Amino acid sequence: MNCRRCDQKAVIHMRQHKLALCAEHYLEWIPEQTERFIKKYGMFTRDEKILVAVSGGKDSLSLWDILARLGYQADGLYLGLGIDAGISYSHESQRLTEKFASEHNLKLHVVDIEKEYGKSIPVLADISYRGHGRPCAVCGLAKRHEMNRIARDFGYDVLATGHNLDDEAAVLFGNTLKWVGDYILRQGPVLPGTDGLARKVKPLCRFYEREMTAYAIARGIEYIYEECPFADGSQSIFHKEALNQLETARPGTKLIFYLSFLEAKNNGNLFVEKSAGQSQLHPCLKCGQPTSAPGLCSFCRMIEKAENPT
Ligand code: SF4
Ligand code: ZN
Repeated sequence: MNCRRCDQKAVIHMRQHKLALCAEHYLEWIPEQTERFIKKYGMFTRDEKILVAVSGGKDSLSLWDILARLGYQADGLYLGLGIDAGISYSHESQRLTEKFASEHNLKLHVVDIEKEYGKSIPVLADISYRGHGRPCAVCGLAKRHEMNRIARDFGYDVLATGHNLDDEAAVLFGNTLKWVGDYILRQGPVLPGTDGLARKVKPLCRFYEREMTAYAIARGIEYIYEECPFADGSQSIFHKEALNQLETARPGTKLIFYLSFLEAKNNGNLFVEKSAGQSQLHPCLKCGQPTSAPGLCSFCRMIEKAENPT
């Protein structure tokens, strides 16, 4: 199969778009499409300061690469989670992130959860009732809290994450299986900011995971191949596998599932009546970030509990 733009040998064929491209034109196409999505969904402008959450994986490093190439003011944030189950996952992901930042002359914030709060994510998960032996709930909570804290403290307008279509379709699928209306309504390429909470955007949400892998490889980005050891056996992997089966049988299924959802949401055609984000928010008494219950936010409650286990 040949590239649609130049007739050289194609390196990728995207059946859902009926489009094949060579490496050179693929490296142009991905940033062009990203720019299109940024504008279409009103994610941010070139005057705004963007904080990109970077994990050392292919998606977040590619996102940072693309935004920098497109001329956006994008700094990185790496969160050290202290996850070292056998493969030194956190250490290696930090090394690759720092290497990328210095090679591209980009500004990177590094926050180490253990240094900041005295305990790593696996330790917090063991102590906290939220963990139930699996650190993902604690990890997600800590990541959201810290990303928002750094965005607020350093005056960023928007937080960008590298979630791809496979991630978004899996989350939507999981929430739909359980019909959690609030979560479903809140999902999308842009989560508007509120007082004290930075706007969150996902510029890669329409690219398949394999497309992002192809981009990172064609661009020569060195990224961590290993998944976090705690991802194994998670709900989201189960949902991704189920969607992969549908995708194999009907190429384009994931994209149609996600885009049809966005369209239905946009047209007010979802069967969920409660609107998201309308509950009253109060500032946390400790960190000042908005929280739904008066008193401490869930993150600060978790840290207090870790400091004073009963
Ligand atoms: Fe955190 Fe779980 Fe993701 Fe690992 S798999 S980085 S523990 S949320
Ligand atoms: Zn708090």
